[in-house]
Amino acid sequence: MCGIIGYTGGGNAAQIIYEGLKNLEYRGYDSAGMAIMENGACKTVKSCGRVEKLGASLRFFGGHTGIGHTRWATHGKPSNANAHPHTYGRITVVHNGIIENYAELRQRLTERGEIFLSETDSEVIAHLIDGFYDGDLIEAVIKCADMLKGSYALLCLCEGKEEIAAAKCRSPVILGLGENCNYLASDMTALAGKCKEVCVLEDGDFALVTPLSAKIYDGGKREITRAYLPNLAEPSALALGGFPHFMVKELWEAPATVKNTITAFCGQKDLIKSALSGVRRIVFTGCGTAYHAALAGKRYIEEFAHIPCETDYAGELRYKTLNVAEKTALIAITQSGETADTVEAARLYKSQGCTVLAVTNSPYSAITRIADVVVPVAAGAEIGVAATKSYSGQIAALYMLASLVAEKEENFAAVAEMPKLILKTLEKIDIYATARLCAESSGVYFLGRDIDYAVALEGSLKLKEVSYIPGCGYPASELKHGPLALIDGSTLSVFVITDPDISVKAEGAVEQVLARRGKVAVITGLPGVKHDLKGRAEIIELPRCDKYLSPLLSAAALQLLAYRTAVILGCDPDKPRNLAKSVTVE
Ligand code: GLU
Repeated sequence: MCGIIGYTGGGNAAQIIYEGLKNLEYRGYDSAGMAIMENGACKTVKSCGRVEKLGASLRFFGGHTGIGHTRWATHGKPSNANAHPHTYGRITVVHNGIIENYAELRQRLTERGEIFLSETDSEVIAHLIDGFYDGDLIEAVIKCADMLKGSYALLCLCEGKEEIAAAKCRSPVILGLGENCNYLASDMTALAGKCKEVCVLEDGDFALVTPLSAKIYDGGKREITRAYLPNLAEPSALALGGFPHFMVKELWEAPATVKNTITAFCGQKDLIKSALSGVRRIVFTGCGTAYHAALAGKRYIEEFAHIPCETDYAGELRYKTLNVAEKTALIAITQSGETADTVEAARLYKSQGCTVLAVTNSPYSAITRIADVVVPVAAGAEIGVAATKSYSGQIAALYMLASLVAEKEENFAAVAEMPKLILKTLEKIDIYATARLCAESSGVYFLGRDIDYAVALEGSLKLKEVSYIPGCGYPASELKHGPLALIDGSTLSVFVITDPDISVKAEGAVEQVLARRGKVAVITGLPGVKHDLKGRAEIIELPRCDKYLSPLLSAAALQLLAYRTAVILGCDPDKPRNLAKSVTVE
């Protein structure tokens, strides 16, 4: 959450930072700002709302060093005053994270007579650095960091200096080496096409960059070296490529994601297998969509490999007493690899001697540096805030992981068929009528049994995220134990029915909704279900496939449904209100 970027070099800093902020906007978009060093003085512009609003001010800037920020507010409402950068004295900062002891620090600084202009936790950072500054910026930043509790990725400018200082603790900072210029940013995506090599800072690292040098220090101001790695971000990920929104572009990229994930997984088979050998218990964790993928992962392992499994939201799991009596593995799923709760859960399990596997599509992310083994999801950068292709990649990876542990080689042939079936689904399904029903419903409920239930939860989350229509996902078997009370003529119930063994029972639940005048849509690949419900429910037909792989098809349909509904309602599916990608705060 929050995107930060810094640039120092020979180019027009304001223009470069503006472009970088646009590429980072998916990390937060309630306000934006930048500060540019010009003739030794720091000039700032901020605006509530989208980065675009800064565009009109660019012509007033001419400097070559600057920092920028696109905000997802944690402390203080979105407003011009709370937008970053924050300046105090000679110091200007942008910050991603939460300063947990800010109230105490602010109180102390206020007692010293210092005046605060915002409600943010971040502003104390500028005050502290200015207080410590005695001609050596990195020293002042290190001293400030000593006083901070919480998480921070911060960039700092100091009047009179063509340099940027950075500090990192539990929020990401990437250093990018350009041609006679250097960058600092929240993620590689922002630097796509700008620099070939990047260095991922570790917690406790500090950096000082000028146009011609990039130095990294530890907390004792000793210079340290870190590896430089190729910048893997593709500029094409940042372009709409003819699609009206990233969400629809990216859901159409699911077939390629699954195909590339199969290739990437096969390259890691030995490592994954040996990491899980002898494991007696598996805990799956994640947040949001990744948690829904975890539910499917649990079913795969239980069904194929018969190893006891649990799932928990990462933000819950990390505060529970650990049961690691038996050889336990944690499978932590996170698209960005930086999800704060998931990263902390992984750290905790690792510290207790458990094997940690990270299922992620972000190669250099925090979780990859904690995990024993990375289970790659080859989705590339996902810009739409609502996860689409990354979910498909996670499902494919978890299905293969369980098949590998269970030595079900034949499953690999089955998953290899899925890219073309997903494509067929996207090409053939007619979702408009159901999307119109969704758009006019007072509530939309998603129901399914077993693996279909895991997908129903994801379908419900997707619709809520991008269209703001209330609703929930439920096991179809639970309908009569409460949720049926919500059903009336103004509601829509979307059933996912892909399992022939239990389809009759799921159809029973459909009848119960219809009997109460509720509208129904059914996502199914089963001809019998289609036949039974024709004319009484909207039927969204899927190609036939193995029930355990069906989430790849039903999720594609549900993602498309959520997308179309958002468009009908005039919502921005790429930047839903109150949300942001990459949840790096706890
Ligand atoms: N806590 C800071 C603020 O509210 C930064 C938020 C973030 O990193 O998302 O301004």
